Amino acid sequence: MDSVFWSDGIAQLHPYVPGEQPKIANLVKLNTNENPFGPSPKVMAAIAQAAQSGLQLYPDPQSSQLLDALAQYHEVHESQVFVGNGSDEVLAHAFRAFFVKQKPLLIPDISYSFYTVYGALFGIECQKVALDDGLRVNIDDYLAIDPSSVAGVVIANPNAPTGVALPLFELERVLQHFSQTVVLIDEAYVDFGADSARALLNQYPNLLVVQTLSKSRSLAGLRIGFALGSATLIDGLVRVKDSFNSYPLDKVAQAAAIAAFEDEAYFQECRAAVMAQRDVVTAALQARGFEVLPSATNFVFACHPQHQGKELLAALRERAVLVRQFEKPRIADFLRITIGTAEQNQALLTALDGILA
Ligand SMILES: *Cc1c(COP(=O)(O)O)cnc(C)c1O
Repeated sequence: MDSVFWSDGIAQLHPYVPGEQPKIANLVKLNTNENPFGPSPKVMAAIAQAAQSGLQLYPDPQSSQLLDALAQYHEVHESQVFVGNGSDEVLAHAFRAFFVKQKPLLIPDISYSFYTVYGALFGIECQKVALDDGLRVNIDDYLAIDPSSVAGVVIANPNAPTGVALPLFELERVLQHFSQTVVLIDEAYVDFGADSARALLNQYPNLLVVQTLSKSRSLAGLRIGFALGSATLIDGLVRVKDSFNSYPLDKVAQAAAIAAFEDEAYFQECRAAVMAQRDVVTAALQARGFEVLPSATNFVFACHPQHQGKELLAALRERAVLVRQFEKPRIADFLRITIGTAEQNQALLTALDGILA
């Protein structure tokens, strides 16, 4: 499809394809890594209150109160925090602010597919570094590359869709080697069992940590993401943001996000429940012959030696269980299965028993 009305290059874009949001009743939806639990009751109350009055007015363009809350929670200065309409938007601004150079951006060959989408949108060449045979990010392969030849580095930690996390000392090696370019660590899943690179912020002015409230804080529907970094990096992001959309976060989202960080008990309870269920699902899949990569996320990445990924995806779908599969080299036989409630996970396992029998 092409149109004379489009700008140059629009026909050549390869837009991101999100997991399906189907409108089928009683579906066991384990395909987009949403949190199976709703947001904190305190978040619901804050949303109701924020919607009570003042919606005729524009929201605070800087989200100042939210920046304060995030700075306090993550023990950094307000000048080191940036918020956006979902971490996807934060990533887009970061790509525009830091990686549009006459050099390629380093990304893992198997990772979040939005990176190459933004690369194409902003004219950034993405140079892919292959995961090792265990589908892990191998830092030695990055250190073999001349740092002056690249525009920057983006690594999801834990990585997606593999779920595998790197320890911080490995990330530190990247930050040191590429000290003259931005190293962006996408921590969409970090709350489910990895260490945040936030701990390294004071030592590395080239570090940008990006997180989201979509997964561990159960707020995918409100679209709230944020970045932590040196004041210089945040300033770069603000310049792009204020050249694009002054009000990325609405009033309701700002209030909800603040409340989410105030309810630490609920957050801890939810993520512990997800991690406990992940252990249950992992063991149950292994008992059924699956190979399961070690996950530090709210999903597992698993393959069965006797069954194709495509075939399992279709058979699960017939049984009203939705998971995700990527028709890509090396990972086509894997299923990415979001950890649901105990009931949803049981439904998945029951469906698999029917398929494997
Ligand atoms: C889900 C996800 C995001 C995007 O999260 P939003 O804040 O909902 O836009 C970013 N990166 C990775 C790796 C993700 O899985």
